[in-house]
Amino acid sequence: MAADPIAAIATAPGRGGIGVVRVSGPDLSSVIAAVCGRELQPRMATLLPFLAEDGEPIDTGLAIHFPGPHSYTGEDVLELQGHGGPVVMQMLLARVLQAGADQGLRAARPGEFTERAFLNDKLDLAQAEAVADLIDASSAQAALSASRSLSGVFSQAVHGVVDQLIELRMLVEATLDFPEEEIDFLERSDARGRLARVRESLDALLAQARQGALLREGLHVVLAGAPNVGKSSLLNALAGAEVAIVTAVAGTTRDRIEQAIQIEGVPLVVVDTAGLRETADEVERIGIERTWQAVERADVVVHLGVAQELSADDLDEVIARRLPLGTPVLRVWNKIDLVGLPARADEGSVCLSARTGDGIDLLRAALLRLAGWQGAGEGLFMARERHLQALREARDHLAQAHGHAQRRDEVLDLFAEELRLAQEALNRITGEFGADDLLGVIFSRFCIGK
Ligand code: GDP
Repeated sequence: MAADPIAAIATAPGRGGIGVVRVSGPDLSSVIAAVCGRELQPRMATLLPFLAEDGEPIDTGLAIHFPGPHSYTGEDVLELQGHGGPVVMQMLLARVLQAGADQGLRAARPGEFTERAFLNDKLDLAQAEAVADLIDASSAQAALSASRSLSGVFSQAVHGVVDQLIELRMLVEATLDFPEEEIDFLERSDARGRLARVRESLDALLAQARQGALLREGLHVVLAGAPNVGKSSLLNALAGAEVAIVTAVAGTTRDRIEQAIQIEGVPLVVVDTAGLRETADEVERIGIERTWQAVERADVVVHLGVAQELSADDLDEVIARRLPLGTPVLRVWNKIDLVGLPARADEGSVCLSARTGDGIDLLRAALLRLAGWQGAGEGLFMARERHLQALREARDHLAQAHGHAQRRDEVLDLFAEELRLAQEALNRITGEFGADDLLGVIFSRFCIGK
């Protein structure tokens, strides 16, 4: 695949100790000769002046040439490490683009270096996504998991299941070619046992991937309850900082208050629904609309009440109607300090005091439990919603295959077809199947220079 050479500033905009201009293309020798004024030893850092067209130095720094295919993109890659000032970097990039103009050297699009790494088989699609997830990680735990995905842990796990599936498919396809043997095929080859084992592996993988996706997407918590029960206070207590205006007057929370916090490295987005009520105020209405949007993607609802008012109010029906189907609701009783109750938690409820902080830990633990978080164990990797979808799809096809295998009039070709579809779904994760229409979506969300 002959692609245009590309160049970009690979370091973040702004000022820093060093800045890096990165170039990738099928053959960079003329660019190197023009800008570095000499040949470069492969993969050796050389200190030299970066030359403008008239031979004047633009900057002095390190140049490293990674001849293809032993490079990040699989093509020739040149890295120029200069001083990290925005003007110097722009001048250096402009010079590089000019030096390569004859060969069609152009500015890189977001994620284009990594896209090339994928197209040249340096990374699979799940690994390429992990590059962006590592850069975007919002907690140390998320970064570690992305790093594990990048090193191939997730991809290997997917391949493990695919290999099991291929073995089973080979057996089935062979039998399809000899229909007279079809009758007791499933018995003889232990196809049902094999299928059961593939399904087990897939379920385990899906459970792990869910944990990874949680680290990436975060848990969306909606705080609901009557005015003055202490929603803003609870949000503050959870966040450990003053984010919402706390006041005894109902209706002071004008806009949606959304706070990103972390519990054990799991990102949480907590949304206060205090402002959800009829209003004529335009500003308030916009805030309300945004709050509804947040409600519609809730993973968990924290329904707050006051411990002392023993009457249990129902979750506001208007809110309940907008929640995703089956959203778990955690009943939380606040202000235990007023009635002298101890903090405690059971299956579906927590008693606490937002004011004293007593019981906040119990709430944190309950939220993690509801989210399905099982702790940052070994082997955690980053996963995206796209991966979960593919895994679920594969799981459903295997369930169909299982159904066919249970029937008395075994329908081997349907059985085989479901196995094929399951494998396709899994191959989509690593990009071995149906990746073309995905690439634009995935790589356009990268930063430039990566
Ligand atoms: P919201 O309208 O639900 O957001 O409620 P606020 O967070 O604004 O709290 C309403 C009032 O209850 C404020 O005066 C808070 O100081 C008070 N409050 C909140 N939590 C507690 C608590 O745990 N104990 C006590 N004693 N008062 C609280």
